[in-house]
Amino acid sequence: MAKPTAAAWMARALQLARRGLYTTDPNPRVGCVLVKGGRLVGEGWHERAGEPHAEVHALDMAGDSARGATAYVTLEPCSHQGRTGPCAVALIDAGVKRVVLAMGDPNPEVAGRGIAMLREAGVEVEVGLLEEEARALNPGFLSRMTRNRPFVRLKMAMSLDGRTAMESGESQWITGPHARTEVQRLRARSSAVLTGVDSVIFDNSRLTVRASQLGLDDADAIARRQPLRVVVDTQLRLPQAAACLREPGRTLVATVMGHDAERRARLEAAGAEILVLPADQNGRVDLVALLRYLAEQELVNEALLETGATLAGAMLDAGLVDEMQLFVAPTLLGGEARPLFALPGLTRMAQQRPLDILDIRAIGRDWRITARPGRLQD
Ligand SMILES: [Zn+2]
Repeated sequence: MAKPTAAAWMARALQLARRGLYTTDPNPRVGCVLVKGGRLVGEGWHERAGEPHAEVHALDMAGDSARGATAYVTLEPCSHQGRTGPCAVALIDAGVKRVVLAMGDPNPEVAGRGIAMLREAGVEVEVGLLEEEARALNPGFLSRMTRNRPFVRLKMAMSLDGRTAMESGESQWITGPHARTEVQRLRARSSAVLTGVDSVIFDNSRLTVRASQLGLDDADAIARRQPLRVVVDTQLRLPQAAACLREPGRTLVATVMGHDAERRARLEAAGAEILVLPADQNGRVDLVALLRYLAEQELVNEALLETGATLAGAMLDAGLVDEMQLFVAPTLLGGEARPLFALPGLTRMAQQRPLDILDIRAIGRDWRITARPGRLQD
């Protein structure tokens, strides 16, 4: 049998990293494989913030076999004295001879330091093997480090005629159980779920992860890490009885200055945390400021936007939507039902919003379209 190639070892490291998809937050998902004489001698992945990094697990498993081995790591090893010590030093001390990395550290403050430490110690380092795949595993961590804002993934459920709810706001359920399980997975991998106050009023959604619906082994750990719920509520209209305020985890209500203290106090007593942000030119919560706050103060990597046409349109207009997951049900809701996006002022074809479609697949009886904002073609 032919020996596995370097790409195959890195693919294994990426597969291990993916096991941390729902649990490493706010840390990145990272995997590591140690290979000696064409044989795997150690492997590991980062499971949870505060626990050992992927490299430490792999070195523990390899023991003395790490001496002279090649390490395949999906991200540049850390160089700082954190809770688990710098992994670059651990690799050097264990006698690893060569390190192959999928990508460098995206944090501009530490990028390249781990690589420099390894090279100074005489370890051979290569960077860039399966880099695209490694980047795709941590879009939120990369976004937070390089853009100072979360990666925003918009999820919407719609009919084949592009409608998300009846005119009354009634929307449950457009899509089937398989699509709803997918939405649970999207929530579980996100640091925060972002919504508008009208969606909370209409749907009274709990916005939580019901881990039992995920069909995953680590359901308990996932259930303990509920994404931060963020309600954009310029006028502070959130009802005190909203279901999301009674759920485990935190609910942040983003608003602007100028509301009476009594209304604030009532919401706080009901369990909400009030976040006062600057207003934009229309007097609404400044969405750029909100995303910056979420990245800087709450360490939000991936934010899942689950909302109605107004906030979805405003986020799209502001260039703040990175990816869309549109679940399309084989049904028609008619012309009086609610559209996907309110995009006021859009009247000419030249103003249309083209999308690049990345993936389309069947999810039960529904379809899931993964897309991102694109450019007009000539
Ligand atoms: Zn580390």
